[in-house]
Amino acid sequence: MEKNETEELVVQPAAELIAVPVAEEEVVVHVKTSIDKWQPKTSLGKKIKMRDITDVDVIFDAGMKILEVEIVDMLFPDLKNELLLIGQAKGKFGGGQRRVFRQTQKKTNEGNKPHFGTLAAVGNENGFIGVGYGKSKETVPSREKAVHKAKLNLVKIRRGCGSWQCVCKEPHSIPYKVSGRCGSVRISLLPAPKGTGLRIDREVAKILRLAGIRDIWSETTGQTRTKINLIAATMKALMSALQTKVKPDEMEFLGVMDGKVKAQ
Ligand SMILES: [Zn+2]
Repeated sequence: MEKNETEELVVQPAAELIAVPVAEEEVVVHVKTSIDKWQPKTSLGKKIKMRDITDVDVIFDAGMKILEVEIVDMLFPDLKNELLLIGQAKGKFGGGQRRVFRQTQKKTNEGNKPHFGTLAAVGNENGFIGVGYGKSKETVPSREKAVHKAKLNLVKIRRGCGSWQCVCKEPHSIPYKVSGRCGSVRISLLPAPKGTGLRIDREVAKILRLAGIRDIWSETTGQTRTKINLIAATMKALMSALQTKVKPDEMEFLGVMDGKVKAQ
């Protein structure tokens, strides 16, 4: 007996569509783990729980790997999350519409087993952002996994105002142009003056908003309909800004502000 384990996106007739929630208000998931019951397993987790480490820069600047989601919950109690529309409705009528879940099927000899993939973003609207992908046989666990992974993937990013038309020295945009690529997709993010808004793909805009970026211009090339690649390219672009060496006087001029925990 041979199992065909290949996975593919399957086009289904409209009648066979599995109903998935798509309303905007359902898109926000509240996944809160209880800190009190938390038994830390990693040494970093123990230090966080004992409050030996309270400064997030100690963790993020040293590139420490966060393996317990409670660490993130404790350090960032105000983290917000959003699901990104990466799926697509199949069939004649709803075809092409964006969905939260990306439905794939695994063909086995017991039949076709559907899987749901979800992409979630978390951020503190102050320079910290994470994106994670969750996959499950059911919709709810898939989005919980995605939020969980997004928290573990949290990174610090750099904001600023590099727009020559604005020069306000506030971190409402980015300090300079950054680019990233994934697959065929290449995205460039450019500083924009106050009031521009996020001139970018809607799903990417959700990520930037969660990071605390309000104004941006963008240029994209390649298969931008492949949302996962577009989002991965955006994350690479955002993360690259911290690698750029900037002179101290320029830092001030560009209003450079690296991710911070929000003042309580
Ligand atoms: Zn500005």
